[in-house]
Amino acid sequence: MEGIIFDIKHFAVHDGPGIRQTIFFKGCPMSCWWCHNPESQNPAPEKCIKTNKLGDQRFSKEQQIGYKIETKELMETILGDQVFFEESNGGVTFSGGEPLMQPAFLEEILKQCSKDNIHTALDTTGYTNSSRFKSIAEKVDLFLYDLKLIDDKQHLEYTGVPVKPVLDNLKWLDKNGINTRLRFPVIPGITDTAENILAVLELMSSFKSIKHIDLLPYHNISNSKYERFRKMNRMGDTQAMDEKELAPLKAQFEQTGFSVTIGG
Ligand code: SF4
Repeated sequence: MEGIIFDIKHFAVHDGPGIRQTIFFKGCPMSCWWCHNPESQNPAPEKCIKTNKLGDQRFSKEQQIGYKIETKELMETILGDQVFFEESNGGVTFSGGEPLMQPAFLEEILKQCSKDNIHTALDTTGYTNSSRFKSIAEKVDLFLYDLKLIDDKQHLEYTGVPVKPVLDNLKWLDKNGINTRLRFPVIPGITDTAENILAVLELMSSFKSIKHIDLLPYHNISNSKYERFRKMNRMGDTQAMDEKELAPLKAQFEQTGFSVTIGG
């Protein structure tokens, strides 16, 4: 079996516990305004023009984004870092894009990781149908679950898809006590409004088992990617957030009884 990925990051330390290898799947059902990986959204491999500057001169060359990879080859790459996983209680994280866009490939890799005793984390939007989600959830050790906006109209406007499947799958994880950390991108004027924060707090207050949230500050280091991929950057010149700016929000979540981390 083969899938399409666009990157593999070794020795990642912000994508779950310990030292991890992060596999970036190509394809995402969303098109968030603030996406840091716009090259991940198209499910197919694609070419782009990469421009480098040297002094006043610019050099452009074609770059391939995304490639097919066999399960066997990907497992060999994962197993190559196994010693680091064992030393640090780490493992492999599937990210993207949205790994659930390639369910058969993801499921096959998850099964093989389980056979080899490798800890798995799934960094997901949760945007998929419930039967697919439940079947894959059984094979995942830790969910890193993105929660962005609670209001359906706003979710549709800023991510391109309705929020219901995201909320339904998240509530199912909580009800079934499945190991999950929430990840909340703090996007100025979009997700950090008083109305959305209160809605997120209200939802989290109803949870039985999910008690941790990572607050992810907006950064604009991907601006050049939008130029390179000739995509419209809808965040315009929005300034990056300093982690210190998130201290009041962290306190607000903590007061409600959650464990909170700034960053991943
Ligand atoms: S869910 Fe993530 S990868 Fe997909 S568009 Fe949004 S920010 Fe980008």
